[in-house]
Amino acid sequence: MTRTTKTAHMRMSSLFAPTLKEDPAEAELNSHRLLLRAGFIRKQAAGLYTYLPLAWRSLQKIEEIIRDEMNASGAQELQMPIMVDAALWEASGRFGAYGPELMRFSDRHGREFVLGPTHEETITDLVKDELKSYKQLPVNLYQIQDKFRDEMRPRFGLMRGRDFIMKDGYSFDANPAGMQASYDTMKDAYARICERCHIKALPVVADSGQIGGDTSVEYMALADAGEASLVYCDSCGYAADDEAAVSPLVVEALSANDEVTRVHTPNITSIAALAQFFDIAERATVKALALLDEAGSPVVCFLPGDHDLNEVKAEHLFGTYHLMDDDELKAYKLHKGFMGPVNLPDGIRIVCDTSLKSSAHWVCGANELDYHLTGVCPGRDFEPDTWADLVTVVAGDPCPHCGASLAGARGIEVSQVFQLGTKYSEAMGATFMDEDGKEKPFYMGCYGIGVSRTLAAAVEQYNDEYGIVWPVAIAPYEVALIPLDPKKEPCLSATETLFESLLEAGIETILDDRDERPGVKFADNDLMGFPYQVILGRRGLERGVVEVKTRATGERVEVLIDELVAYITKRVSAERDMA
Ligand code: ATP
Ligand code: MG
Repeated sequence: MTRTTKTAHMRMSSLFAPTLKEDPAEAELNSHRLLLRAGFIRKQAAGLYTYLPLAWRSLQKIEEIIRDEMNASGAQELQMPIMVDAALWEASGRFGAYGPELMRFSDRHGREFVLGPTHEETITDLVKDELKSYKQLPVNLYQIQDKFRDEMRPRFGLMRGRDFIMKDGYSFDANPAGMQASYDTMKDAYARICERCHIKALPVVADSGQIGGDTSVEYMALADAGEASLVYCDSCGYAADDEAAVSPLVVEALSANDEVTRVHTPNITSIAALAQFFDIAERATVKALALLDEAGSPVVCFLPGDHDLNEVKAEHLFGTYHLMDDDELKAYKLHKGFMGPVNLPDGIRIVCDTSLKSSAHWVCGANELDYHLTGVCPGRDFEPDTWADLVTVVAGDPCPHCGASLAGARGIEVSQVFQLGTKYSEAMGATFMDEDGKEKPFYMGCYGIGVSRTLAAAVEQYNDEYGIVWPVAIAPYEVALIPLDPKKEPCLSATETLFESLLEAGIETILDDRDERPGVKFADNDLMGFPYQVILGRRGLERGVVEVKTRATGERVEVLIDELVAYITKRVSAERDMA
């Protein structure tokens, strides 16, 4: 039977969704495993996947939510070529700088091109010839397109592909205030996109982490499988990548004694062993790390024993540095495991974490094999060269905004908003005539959403032991109609009538018309994760009822056949994306 309804529908007997009986061995993450098993994706080569019809439907729903929010915010959709002239990347200075992730190739004439991993160059080149006056600003343009990155380790299915779908958008403003306004609008729209896709995400300060402002935020979908490690504050909403996070951590007095005391600590070289030896918390010990800075000068850093040196912060302070190896330690007369700020060999800079500033009585190395000191006071027993923020913030540290204890979580970066300033417009000579008659470079912002990664993040957040559990807003179909005797009366007629009525009511329905055992059908429908299952069994039909199972909760209710469409419409429309 052919139908003319515009409501999306499908018969499972003809659906192209090859399911797998076993978990695919290569899949570590739930999202990867389930998307493969449930017949949503197939791999062509490392990091290259075909989106099969069910995945494609969900992806299109995500894209529609994005389009709706972008258009409502005044952004305009366009489509740029995926191939980009390498000359544009030369002009921006990124052709060399981007590195091996950039897919490069040449055409038959030997002209070099790249497959766009992102499109700042293309769009800046486009507008530079078209936007001439401040009167035409601001402009915000976006596209949804495949992007290409030759990732070092393509993995986790759609999470980190080499060809993936991205929404990328770019704003052009006349001045920093305009850029800030465009950025703020996008930041809000991105929060709503996560919400409408039912992605539980935190806006995480990505770069400076400065209090009171941000120039880049990443939306992190919370998931144990996420690659990013975050800290966030439940009281005030502060959230940051733990690499970028700052904290007003204060370490109180460490040891009780007020005098410097030399203690024999044979073979006590680790923080754990030191804490155990003195029967104190690791926080109450001081960790020392010796390094050579970019100029090759020796530095010893001192941090609270339970915190690690933050590589990003260290690079800001020391440039390209490296921790001293055993030979270098020897050359500077340093004793691994026994370094401290007192009696440090001459010429070595002492850099201490700010958290230790007000703490007297350090427990630290004695710069002598097998000895530690207790009761060491900064200012009295030694003078640091610098106090600096050195540590990676961890859960339990105080929030920089409100002081409450930070919580830790893992996240998947699904999107990012970024103030670019004039980086690309200056490099590429993209200017406009301002009100004062002067040529000025555009102030730009860029805004990216990983569309295919969002799909994977959703599965990561919505699954159980039986399969995927789609939120209605991005489910490939809203309802699965499951007759247990699809070929026999009265099941056959009841099924066709209900299918028709559901579609007429605008409910996206997939009919499992396969001649399979009920157990197989239940397993497949659970695996594919349609939000509602309407089950038609012979005994129920005799009583005029069908069973409705809510996939998310497993709850089952009997509903009168005559009331089914109204019941489903009510349930589904309450959870549907409301554009
Ligand atoms: P990551 O740090 O995860 O490599 P990124 O910061 O380099 O990502 P952006 O340049 O900010 O990525 O790209 C915008 C969005 O595109 C990201 O927020 C992410 O959702 C998505 N994305 C980036 N790289 C990939 C990839 N290899 N596979 C799938 N999605 C990706
Ligand atoms: Mg990013």
